[in-house]
Amino acid sequence: MSDWSCRACSAKATRPYRYPPGPDAYCGSCGQSLTTQERGVETLRGLLAYLERNGLSLPEAHDAPPSPPGTPSAPFLTVEEVASLLRTTPKGVYARAARGQLPGAVHVGRALRFRRSELLSFLSEGRAPSSRR
Ligand SMILES: [Zn+2]
Repeated sequence: MSDWSCRACSAKATRPYRYPPGPDAYCGSCGQSLTTQERGVETLRGLLAYLERNGLSLPEAHDAPPSPPGTPSAPFLTVEEVASLLRTTPKGVYARAARGQLPGAVHVGRALRFRRSELLSFLSEGRAPSSRR
């Protein structure tokens, strides 16, 4: 049984929305599980919490320039990390990045990397960047 409530049920009960306890959480009131986007965010949140607990940061790419002191550490995600966040394959990540559907894509040398902050806010907003012009 879950004592976590989804956004809608929290609003109905006029309780403040709490972040789900984990990527496999489901709503105790309506049984709704997390959306793919929320799950991605939770996966990332869990990863970051794990790294923090262990005094680690995300692995730096070998070819990424070292972060200057005073800036957030490990600002980039690898294609593999993004793929597991999005529950897709590295190929899928490349394809979506090529279509401009993933924000924060940046080439480091020949490797594709993603700015963690941009991708994270994209995931938490739960929408694709619009292609309006
Ligand atoms: Zn609910």
